[in-house]
Amino acid sequence: MALINEHFLKLRGNYLFSDIAKRVNAFKVTHPEARLIRLGIGDVTRPLPPACIDAMHRAVDEMASAGTFHGYGPEQGYDFLINAIIKHDFASRGINLSPSEVFVSDGAKSDTGNIGELLRWDNSMAITDPVYPVYVDSNIMCGRSGVLGEDGKWSNVAYLPCTAENRFVPELPEHRVDLIYLCYPNNPTGTTLTHAQLKKWVDYALANDTLIVFDAAYEAFITEPDVPHSIYEIRGAKKVAIEIRSFSKTAGFTGVRCGYTVVPKEVTAATLEGERIALNPLWNRRQCTKFNGTSYITQRGAEAVYSAEGQRQVKDTIAYYQDNARSMREGLQKMGFQVFGGVNAPYLWVKAPEGMTSWKFFDRLLYEAHLVVTPGVGFGPSGEGYVRLTAFGTREDCTEAMERIRKWA
Ligand SMILES: *Cc1c(COP(=O)(O)O)cnc(C)c1O
Repeated sequence: MALINEHFLKLRGNYLFSDIAKRVNAFKVTHPEARLIRLGIGDVTRPLPPACIDAMHRAVDEMASAGTFHGYGPEQGYDFLINAIIKHDFASRGINLSPSEVFVSDGAKSDTGNIGELLRWDNSMAITDPVYPVYVDSNIMCGRSGVLGEDGKWSNVAYLPCTAENRFVPELPEHRVDLIYLCYPNNPTGTTLTHAQLKKWVDYALANDTLIVFDAAYEAFITEPDVPHSIYEIRGAKKVAIEIRSFSKTAGFTGVRCGYTVVPKEVTAATLEGERIALNPLWNRRQCTKFNGTSYITQRGAEAVYSAEGQRQVKDTIAYYQDNARSMREGLQKMGFQVFGGVNAPYLWVKAPEGMTSWKFFDRLLYEAHLVVTPGVGFGPSGEGYVRLTAFGTREDCTEAMERIRKWA
């Protein structure tokens, strides 16, 4: 008899998006004529940059003849892509990385979910709240999160509230933790940390021997000069931080699948006896054993993101989403809503009118303005009283949605 990993039984269903779907379906039964506008989309909608399409077409043609065919590639990724990543994403910001510190993958979700395999199950950990659910659920799966309390929080997870009260800047944990996940620019709040604010976390990690997993999936949306694009812009971060990036939101690769993880040579964790072990060779071993590389075609597509054409095209698409975010943010502010994010991220985090819960606000926008948003409480206890709007829709829909909210308000 095979015994299961019972930690999986502790996972709560991710009911958020199915709950939303249920309510939307119930609405449609009584309002068959209504044209819904969906501001809850967590996926890009604009097509891939033509430079990536051309590069992938060429790569497919290479696959068609024996002389240029590519079979298994290096598990860590092809040098052509790793070198482009280092040159454009890091060296250009004064960060030196060697090719063996970059691991190309099939996306940031896999890497954020898998990275915990390098660490013992009984490390203590912290997350910001509200949060991208992968950080919590992947730790539940290996038993690291402890037991679920009455308050909906896991016993071995320190929740760091991010709310309007602290301007979405988390306080350092009260008790030292071994592992912390940071995501900036943030999903779901769309907020960021400045250099000085992120430095506090790097300094904390250095002083407390804490490992930071830094998710920079929304780096391409940064517009303000004081927002770090990489955690390695902060002195000392290479000793304590792993950074994870993705081509998904940068270049529309959500359906293509490509990302990468930086594990600097200096990052270490300890054995029970206190011996320091570098994580880079461990992650390399993990990937070589369990991952057979991102497809050649995909990596050629990702490489094209860094071409002059690709950069122009990527910037145009991001500007399109950023413009949606800006017009929604300004519109909502004019109507008197408290709005956060949307400057360096495609997400707006909107405070519900006084005393209204996330779900109540959701229902009223659905029934009275025919808009679908995402209730903030679905991302964690501190998300209560907020909803998330995304800027991934069309210009026309964003404009009409603001018009509808204006009438509603
Ligand atoms: C979208 C997203 C990712 C990217 O995931 P991929 O697997 O690369 O598509 C990673 N982290 C966060 C917080 C995200 O919102």
